[in-house]
Amino acid sequence: GNKLEDELFRVKQILLAAEISCKISGTLELRNTPLLVENVLSMCLKEAVTNVVKHSGATSCSISIKQSTKETLLKVHDNGTGIDTKKDWSKGHGLRGIKERLDFVNGSLDIHEKNGTTLNIRVPIVIQ
Ligand code: ATP
Ligand code: MG
Repeated sequence: GNKLEDELFRVKQILLAAEISCKISGTLELRNTPLLVENVLSMCLKEAVTNVVKHSGATSCSISIKQSTKETLLKVHDNGTGIDTKKDWSKGHGLRGIKERLDFVNGSLDIHEKNGTTLNIRVPIVIQ
């Protein structure tokens, strides 16, 4: 297995232990993705799911991974209380940590509050 697949397996266990149902979809084997980028994505996934368990009160969480020619998109959605994107951002270190790690690989994070919380984590695909 690879790093992201291992992390997907772990977060699935964590969600199930918290009685949050979990749906995983998309590509598990990433193309054109350096190990550094895969490690960053794994860390982002871990923090995103930790937040779902700690803060959302959700009953379900879905995780999807999609690759286009341009980017890899990791989406983590929960059906919980939703995040206050203006206020909550500066409460802890987790979201800032995600942002900083993504900056490092020219990636980006955007957060949506609709029917719960959605994190879109994007990293460009660079073919060398
Ligand atoms: P740390 O990650 O440093 O342990 P934290 O989880 O509180 O602390 P962040 O991960 O940065 O910090 O999240 C900031 C805040 O955003 C949280 O305290 C919480 O109020 C809110 N939040 C984050 N994720 C969610 C979510 N999935 N649903 C609802 N609220 C959330
Ligand atoms: Mg956190």
